[in-house]
Amino acid sequence: MGVRPYIDVKKCKKHFTCVSVCPVTVFDKVSDKDYPKIARPADCIGCHACEANCPENAIIVSETAPSWVKEEKKTAPKKK
Ligand code: SF4
Repeated sequence: MGVRPYIDVKKCKKHFTCVSVCPVTVFDKVSDKDYPKIARPADCIGCHACEANCPENAIIVSETAPSWVKEEKKTAPKKK
């Protein structure tokens, strides 16, 4: 299994640096209000540019989901 980025939305301040630096366009900017979308995680080549350049340290590039991702899913409010 390959690596892919994970965005910690508790840290992300929507600078969209990841959208700019990713060489293979893994991220999409949907709008100024939305968090960057990890639109093509399977395209990630593991260069770690997003992780290294994120001004909020909100990105982790990993093979497995960090614990806070699982935590978010558990506690995420249900959509209406
Ligand atoms: S590690 Fe590199 S290829 Fe993967 S999402 Fe981040 S910038 Fe893109």
